[in-house]
Amino acid sequence: MKLIFNSMDFKYELESVVKLFLPATSFKILVSPSEEGHDGDICFIKREVKGVMTYLYVYCRIDGNVASEAGILLNSVDNYKRECEMALARYLYKCLSRLTGEESEWGIITGVRPVKQINAMSASGMSDDEIRQKLKDDFLCSTKKINVAFAVAKVQERILSDLSDNSFSLYVSIPFCTSRCSYCSFVSQSVESSLSLIPQYVSNLCAEIRHTGELMKKLGKKLDTVYFGGGTPTAIDAPYLEAIMQAIEESFDMSSVREYTVEAGRADTITERKLSAILAGGAKRVSINPQTLNDSVLSAIGRKHTVEQFYDAFALARKLGFEVINTDLIAGLPTDTLDSFKNTIDRILELQPENITVHTLSIKRAAHLNHTEEKQLGSQTGAMIDYATSRLVENGYLPYYLYRQKNMLDNQENIGWAKPGHESLYNTYIMEENQTIIAVGAGGSTKLVDRKNSRLKRVFNYKFPLEYNKHFDLMLEKKKEVEEFFTLEEK
Ligand code: SF4
Repeated sequence: MKLIFNSMDFKYELESVVKLFLPATSFKILVSPSEEGHDGDICFIKREVKGVMTYLYVYCRIDGNVASEAGILLNSVDNYKRECEMALARYLYKCLSRLTGEESEWGIITGVRPVKQINAMSASGMSDDEIRQKLKDDFLCSTKKINVAFAVAKVQERILSDLSDNSFSLYVSIPFCTSRCSYCSFVSQSVESSLSLIPQYVSNLCAEIRHTGELMKKLGKKLDTVYFGGGTPTAIDAPYLEAIMQAIEESFDMSSVREYTVEAGRADTITERKLSAILAGGAKRVSINPQTLNDSVLSAIGRKHTVEQFYDAFALARKLGFEVINTDLIAGLPTDTLDSFKNTIDRILELQPENITVHTLSIKRAAHLNHTEEKQLGSQTGAMIDYATSRLVENGYLPYYLYRQKNMLDNQENIGWAKPGHESLYNTYIMEENQTIIAVGAGGSTKLVDRKNSRLKRVFNYKFPLEYNKHFDLMLEKKKEVEEFFTLEEK
């Protein structure tokens, strides 16, 4: 496939639209004044300014079949560049939809955070009806997806109304796992191959926590939520978890903390000793993630635990008294079927966890699949998500955060569902980028947010534990960027 532009404007957005329909197709990008002289499969995109008008044109040819769309825009329209980009994206979408016979329920929304678009339109004074109409007509979004995005926006409105500008969250990265699941794209290092790094890693992490505690105190910021992620935080032994949690307690004023989560993750790493240490350390929210309740699918994805181990870990967390348990599931896993996925949803609902997060497999995580297999999986994924949505709604769960990744099967999404009043503040803040998140540990990325002046800056930690340990002094140096950011805010 050749993707041909008469100029390279909007290349990124338009490339994303092509990938909605042809995710596994590789393409060449060319610059040419016209579609003529180019054989084979092509998408040609042209924007031409003549006087006060802009002429927009899209021509696509796949397997000898042709579709084209064209329109005119006044150069003086508000947000001229954005309007050109959206119109070209719509034309391209319509051509490719006709040629492939496929549609995408999110239309031309290819970004990670669709709810942000709703919030931005709402902040600009548009009514709910106007926003819905725009999502349908301009973004070609289905009513189903508009409804779910609106439901998320409404729950978030409540959560975000309590957010103080002076608060921040702390993300603690434990990038170790006992083995690697085949679909995983996270930075995680097998504990077996990196056991020797853990003592030094934990000692450095505690030092980084103490350094961060002093810095944030100096800046007058209040700790709001704490989140342990990875990897699998429970892949390390209980004394290490205790040491990290103790460092947090000694470094921050914990009286302002409203939520404390440890993502335990895999059931094979969970023991009573570790869960007790987590509870004693102050975390009342824990994640125990089966991904599927089908042993043969677990085995197919290289996730080395059983469904029974998940049930045992869940029962243990309940017995010990965690206030909120989250379970992560994935739709579209290799070898999973619609019936087996439905069974997973029904059995998870019997456990009544306070949070259920339903992810969609992204194709980069299923890189071993060929295009036909990918299409087969994709065709069931939409039905899986529909089933999950209807059963979760029936059971009183509300969607409270939503994000999308590139190349998700059937162009679906990830949604966090919660029983009302049990939504995770951290997940909402990180998704909507409206609170500063300070990350400590390897692979973490700090997100500095100044809502008043609409400033956002990211500071990346070293990616792997080995580099993190090796360059730890430089790691602490990087924290100066946090101070500079907030000092500038005050000026
Ligand atoms: S447990 Fe999670 S982070 Fe670890 S390898 Fe599996 S999917 Fe990746």
